[in-house]
Amino acid sequence: MNACPACDTVWNATELPQNCAAHCSRCGHHLSTNRTNAFEHALAFTWAGLILLAIAATHPFLLFAASGRQVSMTLFDSAFSLFEYGQGVLGSVVFTFVFVAPAALLLTQALLLRLLISGRPSIWLWRFARVLDILKTWNMIEVFLISVFVSAAKLASMAELDLGVAFFAFVGFTLCTLISVNLIDTVQLWRRIEALDR
Ligand SMILES: [Zn+2]
Repeated sequence: MNACPACDTVWNATELPQNCAAHCSRCGHHLSTNRTNAFEHALAFTWAGLILLAIAATHPFLLFAASGRQVSMTLFDSAFSLFEYGQGVLGSVVFTFVFVAPAALLLTQALLLRLLISGRPSIWLWRFARVLDILKTWNMIEVFLISVFVSAAKLASMAELDLGVAFFAFVGFTLCTLISVNLIDTVQLWRRIEALDR
């Protein structure tokens, strides 16, 4: 039995057929969607996200020319140059939220989904699921992407700006992360973990 997060009405998640969504009978709140092969699709997007993050971290992100000088910047440079300008705290925050938190989220998600899809019981299933719950609340990668768009628009008025390979990889990584997180229905995830734990 599960409770509606909006009004606490009790409902039964085991009765939800494949490719159907459940909404609360009292308040209409979306409760769960049982998609076919959702975990397999989420795992594919998770691996794609990790590969794109590796490309985004190691290739030029922005290239700009001003006053006869050409500068190429990687995502790592954006975090570490803040240390050089005495903004160590801000640099640490950028590094944590742009690299560490999303990479940890995707890695935990990949390990959890791999275990779930294998169908073997494991004491790591609920541990990974709990860690994933915490990491999801710290995932703000889309906010960073919006700030990059705003900064790029401002820079474009001051210098000749080119978008590097990493920029497109980062957009792809953000999309893959959002899609994979949204494909994993929390109710269905815990149902599958409980079924394997029995
Ligand atoms: Zn409700």
